[in-house]
Amino acid sequence: MKKRQYYQLQVLSTERLTPNLQRLVLSGDDLASFPDAPAGSYIKLLFNQFGEPQPTAPQEGQRILMRTYTVRALNKAANTLTVDFMLHGEGVEAGPASHWAQSAQPGDTIMVAGPGTSKGLAPEHDWVILLGDMTALPAISAQLEALPEQTRGYAIISIVSEADKQPLQAPAGIEVIWLVQAGSAGLAKSLLDIEWLQGEPAVWAACEFSSMRAIRSTLDVEFNVPRTQVYVTSYWREGRSEDQHKIDKREDAQQYTQLVS
Ligand SMILES: Cc1cc2nc3c(=O)[nH]c(=O)nc-3n(C[C@H](O)[C@H](O)[C@H](O)COP(=O)(O)OP(=O)(O)OC[C@H]3O[C@@H](n4cnc5c(N)ncnc54)[C@H](O)[C@@H]3O)c2cc1C
Repeated sequence: MKKRQYYQLQVLSTERLTPNLQRLVLSGDDLASFPDAPAGSYIKLLFNQFGEPQPTAPQEGQRILMRTYTVRALNKAANTLTVDFMLHGEGVEAGPASHWAQSAQPGDTIMVAGPGTSKGLAPEHDWVILLGDMTALPAISAQLEALPEQTRGYAIISIVSEADKQPLQAPAGIEVIWLVQAGSAGLAKSLLDIEWLQGEPAVWAACEFSSMRAIRSTLDVEFNVPRTQVYVTSYWREGRSEDQHKIDKREDAQQYTQLVS
């Protein structure tokens, strides 16, 4: 098995981008050997068993909590890696990553593993739909920035408050739709509200687990979009830590594969 690669990084700056989104810019000598990551790649942030940021490579057998975050931007020339955290709850018990994002100060150290690559939009398409909540906003933003200028379609983003809207760099043919306080059914319902364009779409979605299921079912039942054109995943689950959510996700994927095969 390939040995996991760890990078020791320091917080360079921290900024509240919008009321529920904190941007941390990380830096460090280790970034020099960090692989180039395509848009939407992710990293693992390491925390110890008490939910504190892990400052050094973990010892053999040490209990570590890992939290997954999208590489919002990687600038090797400037030696920076930018991560945007959706904030939820207060204190370590509400979630070590969200807590750290709110409390981290310039100079603080954390170990990072990765990067991993996520599936993107199906490459063959006539138009696209990208949809997700604020945890997917970094991945959607990075993908929009990488799309060819002639791309048409929609980016549909569910946000906590009106003030969480942020300027997005997208092709002119992409309509950006912000859903404020839309609830777990909001993203799936938005698929019924938009005008479907001519030809084959590619759909990419990431959000909370029950929203993910609702989106998947809407695409199957209402639109019969071919499976090859769709990537729908959950980034978190209400009431479950990332470790628990990972187990739920695996079981759900197995059940769904059996159902559609
Ligand atoms: C590939 C991938 C990329 C991701 N990229 C990002 C990213 O760039 N930015 C980002 O903010 N998130 C991202 N996420 C989601 C993030 O990993 C989870 O939200 C994670 O659970 C947060 O860890 P935590 O330590 O704060 O909370 P945990 O310890 O995992 O959970 C503690 C409690 O908080 C709840 N919780 C977790 N996340 C949320 C949330 N977003 N809103 C409300 N309650 C929540 C859980 O249900 C649980 O009850 C990504 C996930 C994946 C799989």
